[in-house]
Amino acid sequence: MRPALQSYSHLASGKVREIYEIDADTLLLVASDRISAYDHILSPAIPDKGRILTAMSFFWFDVLGVPNHLAGGPTDERIPAEAVGRSMVVRKLPMVQVECVARGYLTGSGLLDYRASGEVCGVGLPAGLDEASRLPEPIFTPATKAAQGDHDENISFERVVEQEGADRAEHLRTATLDIYRRGAELAADRGIILADTKFEFGLGRDGELVLADEVLTPDSSRYWEAATYRPGEVQPSFDKQIVRNWLTGPDSGWDRVADTPPPSLPESVVDRTRARYIEAYEWISQKSFADWPDHE
Ligand code: ATP
Ligand code: MG
Repeated sequence: MRPALQSYSHLASGKVREIYEIDADTLLLVASDRISAYDHILSPAIPDKGRILTAMSFFWFDVLGVPNHLAGGPTDERIPAEAVGRSMVVRKLPMVQVECVARGYLTGSGLLDYRASGEVCGVGLPAGLDEASRLPEPIFTPATKAAQGDHDENISFERVVEQEGADRAEHLRTATLDIYRRGAELAADRGIILADTKFEFGLGRDGELVLADEVLTPDSSRYWEAATYRPGEVQPSFDKQIVRNWLTGPDSGWDRVADTPPPSLPESVVDRTRARYIEAYEWISQKSFADWPDHE
């Protein structure tokens, strides 16, 4: 018999996940189907998005083979029946208070910083780079872990050294770039550009880095389709472009600048977005989403 979800104490709600405590050492992270765009949580949710992103995290944890926070598999008996398929049972770890971002391409806040200063997080870059330029080599661009509702703020490596000490800062940088490179290489083999990503690390018993949170999902990373990559332009998002196009197009009637809540997504947009997430999982993992566990 699986436990009831209500038998666990609910610790926190993230933008996308609910966090429960299984016991003093163990957490249950339950991914919802919530989707956000332009800093708004949209409605309705995308059916199965939580399961798809959970399947992706499990896939990546498995192939990366670095120490990670998983304390059980996708059908672990501690997962309540209703949450099977979208849950991870994980070791509760003290989290390093740095968002560990790796960038192989220049866009978003990285591009803004580069345009203002020629640097991103203190890393100097060559002149002449543009939107979506591939960087000469991947760079570590840490950020603060902002409180809910706030935006993460890019920080220099020196700030990480001040906060975490030189040794741990160096380990964070090395681990972040190493895992990014391996993820990007595998994704590239499948026709996907992993433009950038964010990792979160916890600390193991001996202070060693343990890869935590979600890993290399489209919520924590920018996925671009290699076949349509065109440097110099804003790249379409592999997963969210259908939603973004509809929201900013004439049919939604939404005024993004006025910052009013966006209208409900039409069924066709929801369906096509769901299919896109499944496609991302299946391309990358070479597995069928139909085989992934579901609620019981
Ligand atoms: P967002 O990711 O949208 O910025 P968020 O990070 O606040 O929002 P979620 O990602 O929904 O929220 O929730 C996951 C939370 O659990 C994060 O605060 C993350 O740091 C934390 N977390 C992940 N893995 C572990 C772990 N093994 N031990 C302790 N905390 C963890
Ligand atoms: Mg998060």
